[in-house]
Amino acid sequence: MTGQRPRIVIVGAGFGGLAAAQALRRAPVDVTIIDKRNHHLFQPLLYQVATAALSPADIAAPIRAILAPNRNTRVLLDKVTGIDTAAQEVRLGSGAAVPYDRLILATGARHSYFGRDDWAAHAPGIKTIDDATAVRRKVLLALERAETETDQDRRHALLTFVVIGGGPTGVEMAGAIAELARKSVSRDFRSITPHCSRVILVEGGERLLAGFPATLSAKAKTAIERLGVEVRLGGRVTSVGADHVEIGGEHIPAFTAIWAAGVQASPAAEWLGAECDRAGRIRIGPDLKVPGQDAIFAIGDTASCAGPDGRPLPGVAPVAKQQGRHVAANILAELAGAPTRPFRYRDFGNLATIGRRAAVIDFGRLRLSGFLAWALWCVAHIWFLVGFRSRIVVGLSWVWNYLTFARSARLITGDIT
Ligand SMILES: Cc1cc2nc3c(=O)[nH]c(=O)nc-3n(C[C@H](O)[C@H](O)[C@H](O)COP(=O)(O)OP(=O)(O)OC[C@H]3O[C@@H](n4cnc5c(N)ncnc54)[C@H](O)[C@@H]3O)c2cc1C
Repeated sequence: MTGQRPRIVIVGAGFGGLAAAQALRRAPVDVTIIDKRNHHLFQPLLYQVATAALSPADIAAPIRAILAPNRNTRVLLDKVTGIDTAAQEVRLGSGAAVPYDRLILATGARHSYFGRDDWAAHAPGIKTIDDATAVRRKVLLALERAETETDQDRRHALLTFVVIGGGPTGVEMAGAIAELARKSVSRDFRSITPHCSRVILVEGGERLLAGFPATLSAKAKTAIERLGVEVRLGGRVTSVGADHVEIGGEHIPAFTAIWAAGVQASPAAEWLGAECDRAGRIRIGPDLKVPGQDAIFAIGDTASCAGPDGRPLPGVAPVAKQQGRHVAANILAELAGAPTRPFRYRDFGNLATIGRRAAVIDFGRLRLSGFLAWALWCVAHIWFLVGFRSRIVVGLSWVWNYLTFARSARLITGDIT
């Protein structure tokens, strides 16, 4: 009878939740992991699905299959809608309630349009498989329509792609669209030549990749401009519509805009009435516990955890994974009557890729750019993919794409009207 063992409930099977579940797999506890999706998603490669380089199944794996070997773990497909802290129960969309002795909230983040939610319909972001396939459809349909469009102004607007946000996702997305629209498709289309398309990357700050050292930001800018991307630094987007983007008063006709500018934490703070920062992230204590909640921890993108300099740690996968492992250790310590330990982030560095043969890497003292950085970026991303099959498939796809410029996942799904 396992019912008497401590019940650990994890909400979210992203990087943080999955790391916690794996760290608890041999512990004498009963783990329940709840996610509103049936798959764990490797978000760093979503932009490759959005630009038809990879298929959705290459970067996602069923949570149930990943955790099948963990005998102490059960997986629930459901959406958490609230938490009853007095009864120590998680409330689910299906109406059920799941009791816990310890609760780990790892529900991640979503897009933020900084109060302009009306832009979401015209400038989708990429956060889920559905988002990425919707963007892929938008980009590929624009190219198809441009092929037959006779009105020159409309054709220019169809072939203009605006990416909003100059962080790693925006840079990766703009580079990949430039390669798709300028190189990969020009062989298959009759009227689209490499110079017909225009890709604009808008960043509100003074440089791209603000989290990197300034020298690498400058190298990234040069590399992306070499791919034909127009970079607009200090550009404030003032309007986004179905057929245009306005940057600081300049009206740019464009049918495709993509949002890579901001994130908002999941509503976990609201479920608890907990104190949060401007991005809605729960301000957690050093041991990752939610202040005032003895049995509840929050990790990853939905939590704000101060780093050694007092500033919040970045919303990246390594933070979520390390916190997942740490929270598991703290829970086991508490259950054994030992004190919890504060979390210390081990920062191994930052990586961002720019198209198919350049990247920037900041490993502290070691800073790399260009082809070598790109090769390391590929190795790192293949290494961290979940599942042997994904590693093989993604590795082979990249070799094939690199040699041929082909985009194997160029599928437009759904009705085209
Ligand atoms: C496009 C993109 C590119 C990125 N690139 C990089 C990169 O190159 N390197 C890097 O380090 N980081 C990158 N990141 C950031 C990284 O993916 C996140 O920091 C990381 O995923 C955070 O992990 P998490 O566990 O907190 O949340 P997530 O991995 O987002 O997981 C949250 C999980 O919670 C589930 N969930 C949410 N709400 C509920 C609910 N109410 N009920 C049940 N389940 C729920 C979701 O379905 C999801 O499975 C990128 C992010 C994006 C979107």
